[in-house]
Amino acid sequence: MNSIRYHLLLVILLFAATSLSCQPNENNSPNPLILISIDGLKPSYLEHTSTPVLDSLITRGTYAESLIPVFPTSTFPNHYSLVTGLYAENTGVISNTMYDSEMDRWFRLSDRSAVSDGRWYGGEPIWVTAEKADMRTATMFWPGSEAEIAGHRPTRWFNYDGGMPYEARVDSLVSWLEMGGDKRPDFMTLYFSRVDSRGHSHGPYTEETLDALTYVDGVIGYLIEELERIGEWPNVNLLLTSDHGMIDLSDDRLILLDDLIDLDDVNVINWSPVVMMQPVEGERENVYNQLKAYEDELNFNLYYKEDFPERLRFSDHHRIPDIIMLADLGWTISSRSFYERRGLLAGTHGYDNKYEDMHGFFLGIGPDITERNRIDSFETVHLYEFMCRLLGLDPAENDGSLSVLEPIIRK
Ligand code: AMP
Ligand code: ZN
Ligand code: ZN
Repeated sequence: MNSIRYHLLLVILLFAATSLSCQPNENNSPNPLILISIDGLKPSYLEHTSTPVLDSLITRGTYAESLIPVFPTSTFPNHYSLVTGLYAENTGVISNTMYDSEMDRWFRLSDRSAVSDGRWYGGEPIWVTAEKADMRTATMFWPGSEAEIAGHRPTRWFNYDGGMPYEARVDSLVSWLEMGGDKRPDFMTLYFSRVDSRGHSHGPYTEETLDALTYVDGVIGYLIEELERIGEWPNVNLLLTSDHGMIDLSDDRLILLDDLIDLDDVNVINWSPVVMMQPVEGERENVYNQLKAYEDELNFNLYYKEDFPERLRFSDHHRIPDIIMLADLGWTISSRSFYERRGLLAGTHGYDNKYEDMHGFFLGIGPDITERNRIDSFETVHLYEFMCRLLGLDPAENDGSLSVLEPIIRK
């Protein structure tokens, strides 16, 4: 961003600081809510690169130590848990890759027909809660938003196109807000993947990943300038979130599954760092015992589904297969043939959410959100009830609690 634009933006932010108010707007409808995901943004990245827009927003709004993702700390489970307030075992979106034995179908991110099939998505995303209450919603990408869920879709939604320029995504959102009357959405989303994909290809804290964040920071600045231009900036509530963090990988931290068991004895549904496997008939105990024998010596934990740690809320769904092998932070579990062909990514996520390196980002700013407020880390499932309150909606059943974020609602 050039310096004139940057200074203009600071003026806008300062102006907003003096004009934010918690008054509802004239026609008594809620202030518009914009939910943004910067996939794979670790809060600590901000200490390593230039993010003038986020820095400025942080000093004005409510900023959390971190956002604690649901397990597993991967993209689809977390985005969908954030908008439903349910843990993955209760949404059924248990991974980016899933197999459903009742439907006899696979779910993969590259499979459009699966990603847009509502049968994969349980619970009630906030856009459905809003549409049921006769509000308008619009998503410029969000996992789950391309499917009809419980008979509803966002008023406007788009098939995921990772190549769509980020400024064009912002332009679409701004054009929706410019619509008059009952066409104007009350709830909108934006999604940006570049920080995550650079984290995978180059590793966290590398120049490439940090540059991606500086770029996205400029895009958020552009959004704010545009909101200001159309006279909306002081009136919108903006939530900036991320779904998980990132950790670097190393060939020194590698476990090859075929060195431990015969891969013909299992169907592996999901690979590293959470290996979810369904043993072939008659091999359940055998596979478990063989792997368990290595647990003390190697860097993983092994569980039968029903014995999975309660705190991770990841047992009670038929899509979760019988045996789960969980790598320690920064470790990879692969097969010899895959590793020899493809090697390792520079970085990844998906590990236990007890590791801070897996935590995401939360920043809220707007007329209904407290100013200059720093809060402790909180779990992503609490955002659904919070967003419902901002929009004046009755929440559907969920695993979160309004009491966690009620203190950051401006009275
Ligand atoms: P992950 O593999 O967990 O790092 O997921 C991040 C990737 O998910 C992004 O780089 C996108 O390619 C993909 N993704 C995000 N949103 C969608 C979507 N709505 N449909 C399909 N793929 C998506
Ligand atoms: Zn992600
Ligand atoms: Zn990722």
